Amino acid sequence: MRAVRRASHKNSTHHHRRHGMSSTIGFIGLGHMGGPMAQNLLKAGHTLRVFDLVPQAVQALVQSGATAAASAAEAVAGADLVVTMLPASRHVEGLYLGEDGLLTAIARGTLVLECSTIAPESARKVSAAAAQRGIRMIDAPVSGGTGGAVAGTLTFIVGGAAADLESARPYLQAMGKNIFHAGDAGAGQVAKICNNMLLGILMAGTAEALALGVANGLDPKTLSDIIAKSSGRNWATELYNPWPGVMENAPASKDYAGGFGVDLMLKDLGLAAEASMQARATTPLGELARNLYALHSTQGHGKLDFSSILKLYHQPR
Ligand code: NAD
Repeated sequence: MRAVRRASHKNSTHHHRRHGMSSTIGFIGLGHMGGPMAQNLLKAGHTLRVFDLVPQAVQALVQSGATAAASAAEAVAGADLVVTMLPASRHVEGLYLGEDGLLTAIARGTLVLECSTIAPESARKVSAAAAQRGIRMIDAPVSGGTGGAVAGTLTFIVGGAAADLESARPYLQAMGKNIFHAGDAGAGQVAKICNNMLLGILMAGTAEALALGVANGLDPKTLSDIIAKSSGRNWATELYNPWPGVMENAPASKDYAGGFGVDLMLKDLGLAAEASMQARATTPLGELARNLYALHSTQGHGKLDFSSILKLYHQPR
């Protein structure tokens, strides 16, 4: 508990960094995002004990100096900090809750960063169960894609106690650039869901606009350059272009491998729809986007990057 206990003192995090002291971190979920996030915690000098259901994901971290744990419970035993980066609500609830859930293996006072994008009510449920055991949990979903995860420039959108966010800050800074406090437990998830609903709409809209231009004889790269300096500009066009070959490092240029899966985007648009219904809000474009990604997924593209939504609009000849 070295780093975390000290973090209750003012400025202790700076103290901690200056002296280059390292924490022991249990990290669970080493997929497209968790893998590179764990790498950045290693680079910051921390000791990592890692676990994933997929052995290859664990191996990549072990090669960089992490220790493989035989189970999630083993990864968190004696850890100063716990980080989880799992697909969806059911994985998070399944891991933490229940009679032999992970909360029973985490020491009192330990700080937990739950970084998956899940339902706000799931985040509140798990963090309340953690609080009952004296465990300090914040929801800290991220934005910035796999590129941001690798570069350590993620945006963290935090829900939970302000004091716990301050304890988490040095670790979040090792993995990201922008850190926001959205509100109490679950609020980080609400903000993340709103962002991703907009992202889903913008990616589908970008694919639609590029396909329209190409169908009318334009070059997709030229059109993308024009939009990037015009009023239709957005993250999808500029940093994550859905057209193959327009952007060398985008998933579109790698047969839509890696990146952010269609089924994960579909999950997030479903979370937006649920939040919309609960609050009696009106989200027609979010609903339409959800239907487009659902259709795309049923056509067998669920594991591709979400920018492959272009396939609904354009079939390469
Ligand atoms: P992923 O499917 O690549 O990785 C999830 C990992 O969790 C997998 O390696 C899986 O084996 C592991 N896992 C699942 N259940 C487990 C368990 N019980 N114990 C141990 N490991 C378990 O997904 P990802 O793309 O890394 O996304 C993770 C989360 O981050 C999702 O909630 C996603 O919505 C969100 N997110 C993703 C991106 C992105 O660009 N990929 C961006 C922002 C947020």
